[in-house]
Amino acid sequence: MTEQKGQEMRCFCPYCDEELMSANLPFCQMCKVTIIYCSECEKPLPRDKKVCIYCGTEIKD
Ligand SMILES: [Zn+2]
Ligand SMILES: [Zn+2]
Repeated sequence: MTEQKGQEMRCFCPYCDEELMSANLPFCQMCKVTIIYCSECEKPLPRDKKVCIYCGTEIKD
């Protein structure tokens, strides 16, 4: 569950639900995985996903 705190948006790893260290550095130190963001809903997704698990948008890289 994401939580809005002022302007800062907290993001969580889709694999382990750890909070990501920084939205500007979308990398989970627990999973050692780079996180991408959906262009539509801006939720964090595992990089190997082809389709957003939240809104179904196709992910292009
Ligand atoms: Zn993780
Ligand atoms: Zn999405």
